[in-house]
Amino acid sequence: MKVHLQTYGCQMNKLDSELVTAALKNGGFEIIDSEKDADAVLINTCSVRDHAEQRVMSHLGLLKHIKKTKPDMVVGVIGCMAQRLGAELLADKTVDIVCGPGQIPQITELVTKALREKTKTIAVTEKIRQKSAEDDALEEFETVSDSDDKRIPNQAFVRAMRGCNNFCTYCIVPYVRGPEVSRPPAAIIEQVKRLADSGVKMVTLLGQTVNSYKYDTYCLADLLGMVSEIDGIEWIRFVTSYPAEEFYERILKAMSELPKVCKYLHMPAQSGSDKILKAMNRNYKAGKYLELIDKAKEIVPGIALSGDFIVGFPGETEEDFKQTVSLVQNARYKNCFVFKYSPRPGTTADKRLQDTVAEEVKKKRNIKLLAVQEKISDELSKEFQGKEVKVLVEGPSKKAKVNPCSEKGCAQLIGRTEGDWIVVFDGPMTLAGEFAKVKITRTSPLTLFGEMG
Ligand code: SF4
Repeated sequence: MKVHLQTYGCQMNKLDSELVTAALKNGGFEIIDSEKDADAVLINTCSVRDHAEQRVMSHLGLLKHIKKTKPDMVVGVIGCMAQRLGAELLADKTVDIVCGPGQIPQITELVTKALREKTKTIAVTEKIRQKSAEDDALEEFETVSDSDDKRIPNQAFVRAMRGCNNFCTYCIVPYVRGPEVSRPPAAIIEQVKRLADSGVKMVTLLGQTVNSYKYDTYCLADLLGMVSEIDGIEWIRFVTSYPAEEFYERILKAMSELPKVCKYLHMPAQSGSDKILKAMNRNYKAGKYLELIDKAKEIVPGIALSGDFIVGFPGETEEDFKQTVSLVQNARYKNCFVFKYSPRPGTTADKRLQDTVAEEVKKKRNIKLLAVQEKISDELSKEFQGKEVKVLVEGPSKKAKVNPCSEKGCAQLIGRTEGDWIVVFDGPMTLAGEFAKVKITRTSPLTLFGEMG
């Protein structure tokens, strides 16, 4: 039986999809690229933004058409949207399986049953904020099924923790992913060792607030130390960090002292206005956030920073937005991601706050903030001009086909520095998944261009 799996959303979701892929393959299913030829189509969904959910709904619309000519095809919705909408999704005629993120260990069974019995099934967590037996099943699933990611050679994501306890008012994650659970360090180390044995050179430790990782007496800094000792692993990253003081200095010191830990920190600020941060239930003020950023620059010289922002949050005035612009100018990120606020059903912001900022204004602020960031990115990227950087090569760039390299077996390649700067250069295809030294000859705000030394 053939399964097609489509993934929307964040790295967490991509990692879930890799685990699902590995489990289905172990269960005897073939994973294919074409959904038209599939016996079952699974959509791993994201609920973080309205836009992501809309894309899933239009995808289901397409599948409805395919099902007209292939009525036996099974359609399963897994992930955050499945947990958020549950029975409402199952009521859609196109959908046969609804499976929350906590139930992915059951996926092979659910698909087999739906194909065999042609019945609709739902598997979601009833009381999402309570610890349940499903946590143990998830841990076991994660430990035995190594992620199956062939997209970027020699790189892998490893979950350090699940869920979130922060309840930012705009965010759906705590309601669909449950409370924070840190995975045992021994399980993580075991997994990373297996990945290293299979040739993986870089691992990224994942968590919604990965810097709050805590297991017995271990914090993220300890985990970074343990992963550093694994032979074969050369670079270690961790995302995403919440601006909090607990463990912060220890993590920064680990970053500065452990050569394998990449000098890169993704720490969303979301806003530069204390009033808006309070309304978002972010537990810090803009001044404190900038102090944390200064500390990172002091303890880890040369650190590359990135951030996330929401513009147009309910009640955001021009003055609040100016404060966000000022924070971006002070933080001097390498890059940042800017999103327009969209209310998410079930969140506190949706229940208690009116979406007061007009779409036009959100759009304008989004463009403005990106322009401010682009200028900073441009200045920072110019500092690389003429320098040699070490990159981990991901493979041919998107333009490789239209812009082939003159030498045989060569292509325009794309790689990243330890600070996550994208580097484009010509080189042998065999370098995919390997490290290379590249001399930077030209820069743009988001990309460095160079030549192999
Ligand atoms: S820290 Fe806030 S934004 Fe991030 S996942 Fe948790 S609730 Fe959502």
